[in-house]
Amino acid sequence: MSQYRTFTVADAVEYARQYGQMPDPQALVSADEIGDGNLNLVFKIRDRARISRVIVKQALPYVRCVGESWPLTLDRARIEAETLLIHGALCSHHTVRVLHHDPELAVMVQEDLSDHHIWRSELMKGHYYPQAVGQLAEYLAQTLFHTSDFYQAAQAKKAEVSRFTNPELCQITEDLFFTDPYHDHERNQFDDVLLPHVTVLRKDTALKLAVAGLKHRFLSKAEALLHGDIHSGSIFVAEGRLKAIDAEFGFYGPIGFDVGTALGNLLLNYCGLPGLLGPREATDCREQRLLDVRELWLTFAGRFLSLCQQHSRDVTLATPGYAEQFLQQVWQDAVGYGGTELIRRTIGLAHVADLDSIADPEMRAECQRSALNLGRTLIVNAAQVEHVDALLARIRQHG
Ligand code: ADP
Ligand code: MG
Repeated sequence: MSQYRTFTVADAVEYARQYGQMPDPQALVSADEIGDGNLNLVFKIRDRARISRVIVKQALPYVRCVGESWPLTLDRARIEAETLLIHGALCSHHTVRVLHHDPELAVMVQEDLSDHHIWRSELMKGHYYPQAVGQLAEYLAQTLFHTSDFYQAAQAKKAEVSRFTNPELCQITEDLFFTDPYHDHERNQFDDVLLPHVTVLRKDTALKLAVAGLKHRFLSKAEALLHGDIHSGSIFVAEGRLKAIDAEFGFYGPIGFDVGTALGNLLLNYCGLPGLLGPREATDCREQRLLDVRELWLTFAGRFLSLCQQHSRDVTLATPGYAEQFLQQVWQDAVGYGGTELIRRTIGLAHVADLDSIADPEMRAECQRSALNLGRTLIVNAAQVEHVDALLARIRQHG
């Protein structure tokens, strides 16, 4: 059994030689630690021509962006690797390939996706990947259906719920999504100009009531093995290709949370585009984002429904009409969770570049206010927005 130690660059190279499944392991000679995330070490392992060939990712026993004062379980590395292995078995085209993992060392060796781009960066530049949304919908439908009660045997699923119990990472989501933004908390971060807006949100009882319901469902609805953090920075794209990475928040939760996180990130981009590209230049891209929202939901729902109709194993859940009814609940959850993503990414601890990288302070504040308003609209009206076209109509109305 190996004992945990934080990898040096040399350790990472040696580990990749051993476990990278390369035909020529000795060709691996150097590494760069390139982690730009909030939590972990990520090494790119390179050959003599400095070409990156494989990735070694290791969890640190604390939150990287905060420091050792915020300890965090290493078990998240096991959860991440095991979630990716399951999602990879269910949807290999759209899940990063895990070549090896070791829970004691909290380390994982992954295929290198350096010939892809992080989707968020592409969305921010207005680069369009016509197949990406459909592929993301396929990933969500395959992984969520096959880990749900429609497909898994009840006892086997309960064992999986237990294997994927992820209390510390879930608590981060519980706090950062549903609690901090609606209270005066030191983890929140926003410019002073937003304070009047934030103060109004904190006094908004209809909003807080709806957020309580969303948090409660997040805490208690073990519907399927979620990715848990499927934002556009956890997705690599290339022409005709899409792969999800970074599943350390994986756990059994409400399906609408994954769908809503994905929708929320398209809408964060929609809100940021006028500041990123210029108000007039952004018009077409923004329209495309709304069409993306529509396509994401309709493709996901269509795929999930046909999987239910063809492969449901539970005879009761297979009752005609039940899958449609269930998807309506998922839709309403997704709208609400999408709204919480908009708000927490604007005023909470972890922001997104779609808004924060807008250089002009006035423009930035305007885009941030629009994200807060849209977030509120989605959360408060989720139960009334019955169809994706009604959602688009509300967003257009919102401006
Ligand atoms: P964290 O969990 O710390 O957020 P991520 O898994 O998001 O770490 O990885 C951080 C960054 O490392 C990504 O944004 C990406 O730039 C790079 N990266 C991660 N996995 C890969 C991969 N398989 N191939 C290429 N680059 C990767
Ligand atoms: Mg990340």
